[in-house]
Amino acid sequence: MKNILDIELKSSFKYQVIFFISAMMHSVFLVTFMLTQIYGLMTLNIISVAFYLIAFAVGRWGDIEKHGVTWLSACYAEITGHAFICTLWLGFEPCFYLYAIIVLMVAAYVLYLACEKRQFLRMIMIFTVITLASVLFCLIYLHFGDPIITTVFGKTLSQEHTGIMRAVNLLFNIIITFFFSVMFIVEIQVLIRKLNTVNEKLNYTAMHDALTGLYNRRSLYKMYDEVKDKGNFCVVMGDIDNFKKINDTYGHGCGDEVLRGVSSVMNDMAEKNDIACRWGGEEFLLVITGSKENGLARLNEIRKKILALEFAHGDRKINVTMTFGFVDCLEILEHTEFIDPSMNIDALVQMADTRLYYGKENGKNVIIDKNVETVK
Ligand code: GH3
Ligand code: MG
Ligand code: MG
Repeated sequence: MKNILDIELKSSFKYQVIFFISAMMHSVFLVTFMLTQIYGLMTLNIISVAFYLIAFAVGRWGDIEKHGVTWLSACYAEITGHAFICTLWLGFEPCFYLYAIIVLMVAAYVLYLACEKRQFLRMIMIFTVITLASVLFCLIYLHFGDPIITTVFGKTLSQEHTGIMRAVNLLFNIIITFFFSVMFIVEIQVLIRKLNTVNEKLNYTAMHDALTGLYNRRSLYKMYDEVKDKGNFCVVMGDIDNFKKINDTYGHGCGDEVLRGVSSVMNDMAEKNDIACRWGGEEFLLVITGSKENGLARLNEIRKKILALEFAHGDRKINVTMTFGFVDCLEILEHTEFIDPSMNIDALVQMADTRLYYGKENGKNVIIDKNVETVK
């Protein structure tokens, strides 16, 4: 079963729930006032039920979100007005004024999602002032005089009826508080989930090269810190041979295709903890974890796979080669000029780059390691 906190609530559904609950509650009031023969308030509740049924129908079959704020304001006016009239009519004892308070919490929740922040602040302030004024008016009116049921109709609400109404109103208020608290948490969960998804996408974009999908230079530095503590590794600088010629002869689009193809070989060959990164242009930096022998063997496999790639351009088949400069991380210990003993990545990259340059000068399509060995 889906967890309630994972449900994404549709806006129109939320309106429907609010209208439906309101219609049901006013139906209970309607029956209560009918049984207690308070016909004025019964009539008021017939109007309220009709209002909520129409609102529910619009929510169900119409476009409620278009005028969402207007409908919500009308609901607020109805609830506050009803609480105000019932309190003046019957006094504070049946606790109808509680709805005037709780509606502020519901309005804050629904309006926050329905309108932009400035409008939200303005409306919630207006609502609060109206609620304050209405409760204050009731306090003063009932301090100096009797409720309408006595002054106009010459009756009093019995202790029993007062008790029943108070119980119903307190119960409704507790249920409403619980219900909207849960809705609010659900809403926060939905927002957090959306935020996490966006963050993941942003993070991916910030760490990867858009054309090839490989890691970019920035993420290399970030990931290197983790790799360097996990044992031996080799640093490789690779460069596509005569790439400019491919661009010049077959066009930039074809050049991009080659970059993607070469990258996917390096990406596929990368094992756990390895790093395949586009250093820039047609240059790539690889961090291959493990011993020097393992690194050289795997790099040679990469070189051969790239050699075997075929790119189609019209009816022409294009092949590319790459030259690599290879450095085992332990070599840095032999170089006293590198003061940082924690295997500085910049120093390793510089060494790999020097060897790459040597490979370019000496025939290309090679791997150059410490002893200027050529692996072909
Ligand atoms: P060498 O064998 O010495 O490496 O020669 P090269 O032609 O590969 O190197 P050079 O530095 O002369 O040319 C690199 C070219 O790569 C120049 C640049 O326009 C091209 N390039 C850089 N980034 C991209 C890219 O994202 N897409 C394409 N299509 N070309 C790019
Ligand atoms: Mg090149
Ligand atoms: Mg280059």
